[in-house]
Amino acid sequence: MNKIKAILLAAAMMIPLTACSAQQPETKKEAENNRETVYQVALLQSLTQGYYDGIIKVSELKQHGDTGIGTFEGVNGEMIVLDGKVYQALGDGSVQEADDNETVPFSNVTFFDKDLSATLAQTADINSLKDTLTKTVSDNGRNLFYMVKISGTFQKMNVRSELKQEKPYKSLDKALATDQREFNYENIAGTVVALYCPDYMGGLNTPGWHFHFISDDKTKGGHILDLAFESAQAEFDATQDFDMYLSENAEFQKMELSKDVSDAIKKVETNEE
Ligand SMILES: [Zn+2]
Repeated sequence: MNKIKAILLAAAMMIPLTACSAQQPETKKEAENNRETVYQVALLQSLTQGYYDGIIKVSELKQHGDTGIGTFEGVNGEMIVLDGKVYQALGDGSVQEADDNETVPFSNVTFFDKDLSATLAQTADINSLKDTLTKTVSDNGRNLFYMVKISGTFQKMNVRSELKQEKPYKSLDKALATDQREFNYENIAGTVVALYCPDYMGGLNTPGWHFHFISDDKTKGGHILDLAFESAQAEFDATQDFDMYLSENAEFQKMELSKDVSDAIKKVETNEE
């Protein structure tokens, strides 16, 4: 709507549109809302069912956040968004900065503003980490969204990525059954980017935690299957607003997105049957 207004205004005043829209006034409240929003591209359910067409460019995704997780067209690797950069952890184990024209079928990003921080004690596995983080979330308010960054040296870091899929796309569990690649690192310094979705998000995403990792030297990363560390620093961004972007594509519109794929999601997220 703002864009249409801007075009009309530009036409009426015969001024270049770029100059006009760039100076579009934003109230303080609007600017705050923009930072305090978890922006979601499509649904984890559409991705799980095999909708891998990118619906937004990386360059546009960056307008909605500087921190987050996701994947790329054809599930061509795991996405880690950190400090405003979008990294692509590929199925061959390498990491590159994603091209701005690369497209995205699923992602969650936000502008990170630290609300809480915690020093995490020795943690032996991913489930212990979930328990620790969930306690902080419960104390602060479990019905908000949280983006969390955890930095440290990880004694164990098991991640996965996957090979790029070609059409016709298979569902994600079938694609991962043959094309998932796992990488096990030891004593690796880096950052975990984690998203917490509240319990009621089961139809649009997955309730609870979703973890991605990138090494400090930006050469290794992926979707975390397991980890361990002696101590680490966690920062939490509690977020009140949720914004979702959907595809108008006919194929997307034919999908039955209320179908319960929670078992398939659990399998693809955790490797557990
Ligand atoms: Zn993931």
